[in-house]
Amino acid sequence: MALHVYKFGGTSVGSPAAVEAVARIVLNARAEHQVAIVVSAMSGVTDALLRGAHTAAAGDPATFGAIADELRARHATAALELVANADERRALRIETERLLGEFRTLCHGVNVLGELTPRALDTIGALGERLNAPLVAAALRAKDIPAQAVDAGTLIITDDRFGDATPLLDETNLRVNRELRPLFEQGKVPVITGFLGTTREGRTTTLGRGGSDYSAAIIGAALDADEVVFYKEVDGVLTTDPRVVPEARVLRRLGYDEISELAYFGAKVLHPKTIQPLVEKNIPVHFKNTFNPDHPGTVVLPRGTAGAGTIKAVTAIRNLTMLTVAGRGMLGVPGIAARTFTAVARLHASVLMISQASSEQSICFVIPSKLAEEVQQSLETELASEIARRDIDGVFIQDQAVIISVVGAGIRTTPGIAGRIFAAVGEAGINIHAIAHGSSECSISLVVDAADADTAVRAIHPLTAPLETTTTTSERL
Ligand code: ASP
Ligand code: MG
Repeated sequence: MALHVYKFGGTSVGSPAAVEAVARIVLNARAEHQVAIVVSAMSGVTDALLRGAHTAAAGDPATFGAIADELRARHATAALELVANADERRALRIETERLLGEFRTLCHGVNVLGELTPRALDTIGALGERLNAPLVAAALRAKDIPAQAVDAGTLIITDDRFGDATPLLDETNLRVNRELRPLFEQGKVPVITGFLGTTREGRTTTLGRGGSDYSAAIIGAALDADEVVFYKEVDGVLTTDPRVVPEARVLRRLGYDEISELAYFGAKVLHPKTIQPLVEKNIPVHFKNTFNPDHPGTVVLPRGTAGAGTIKAVTAIRNLTMLTVAGRGMLGVPGIAARTFTAVARLHASVLMISQASSEQSICFVIPSKLAEEVQQSLETELASEIARRDIDGVFIQDQAVIISVVGAGIRTTPGIAGRIFAAVGEAGINIHAIAHGSSECSISLVVDAADADTAVRAIHPLTAPLETTTTTSERL
């Protein structure tokens, strides 16, 4: 029997009505497939937990208690609506109390010490998934689905980079199969906590915000699943943000390369690392709407989707700053770029885009604004002697930058695409500060002023190919 892994995000499990929708999906799917599901915390819960931890660290001894009370009420209300069986509800109440007790104890410790370590933050942050998986499992059992909550701490073994842990794949693969296969054999539906893992020493880690997607991918790959479906609250991956362009459409098909590019470029479709484990195993990926499951959604297939779709989507990544290292003395001098990016890496700033003209008189790159000043200072220190010799004029900052990223595998093979993009942006009267066309050749990125970002997206969006999108058909591949 085919095996599917479904991931439900915070909003898909954020209310009793939503969990009802999840139950219907799982019930239908079970008629044809074996199913494992991965769940996030209820929407807003991770944020609330982290707020409790941060306020405690800042000296506030009361907020975390109020948060614990809110979370208790929210989970109890959901249990009351979803789980009729009194024994089940009592078991849930006990588990909720245990986890919230842990939350209070940890926050109290943080408050007393006035210090919040990444390790404590992960243990606290992961509680949202641990609160939710048993609830979803009980709700499914109430619908006669033989569900069983599984703590991903027993499945996903990671390194100890708290807050952004990396799974150790061999060990994880082993555990996933050892723990989950017997459940499938008993006809059960595992309901697995997303977001979290443990180190070899048994410390809780998290995979980074939004990491439940990644959890589903890791588990799907380990099980060699036939399909991994990300259920969200939109019909699929969109050509662009509908708040900016109301005509945004659902993409019918995408390639792995295109979805990675979109995830990387902040389309909020997917945690950026997610696609990797699935690419390696050639596992098809599907995006669907929990609240509109008859919509065909977006299918992501190993190979690109060629055909009419040259430009698939256009996204804007905001809150960025562009830094430029400039000077005539850089011409032909090896090592400036290497030193520049080593200095940037030391501060753990992720570089979203780099561009160097072949005249070699400047290198510019784009990073999140919150790190910009620190990076600028660090570069000025690193390059101090070149600056003193006037080989380098300085490190210049341009804040309020936005990257407009245009994605589509067809960009690789279709001449003239870049011309059409620049023409559209030019006609809209927008000044482009920098351009990058990565070696994947699957995207073109432009840096523009924040004030021009929406106009740029609107100008480019008509170039997306209508044949590759859908809003109504129920066709399946
Ligand atoms: N609950 C976690 C977060 O809010 C993980 C996730 O939702 O994917 O970041
Ligand atoms: Mg999420």
